[in-house]
Amino acid sequence: MSAKSPLDRPLPSGKGDSARYWTALRAGRIELPRCQACESLVFYPRPHCPVCHGHDLEWVTLSGRGRVYTCTVVHRATHPWFMDKTPYVYALVELEEGVRLPSQIVGVPPAEVTIGLAVEALFEKVDDEHTLLLFRPAGLLEA
Ligand SMILES: [Zn+2]
Repeated sequence: MSAKSPLDRPLPSGKGDSARYWTALRAGRIELPRCQACESLVFYPRPHCPVCHGHDLEWVTLSGRGRVYTCTVVHRATHPWFMDKTPYVYALVELEEGVRLPSQIVGVPPAEVTIGLAVEALFEKVDDEHTLLLFRPAGLLEA
């Protein structure tokens, strides 16, 4: 692996409690822990349930289908790597299983992204270690 530059794309470590989440994304799946006591889905992945504090968690595979819960259009990059990527849509997506995930909405002009828009997961392979979860409007044909 080459040395990191401050201009490189910021990427997750993919280690620790969320390692399985990132491994699943590389395989084209969304997996999250579900609390066996109260059935809450846990995002971000951690060893206990943030709702009931239970420790009996089981990983489950999610549909990848959901709706835009809220969103904003980013015009000013917060990191040098994003400078030529603006404007882009940063959103909180509520999956049909009820959990909300932060992500980007791609494949559509930012002005067309609205709260409630039906979206589906898109797995962006960055390199052999990193696949990121993005979303696009549901039903878009592959480019
Ligand atoms: Zn719980």
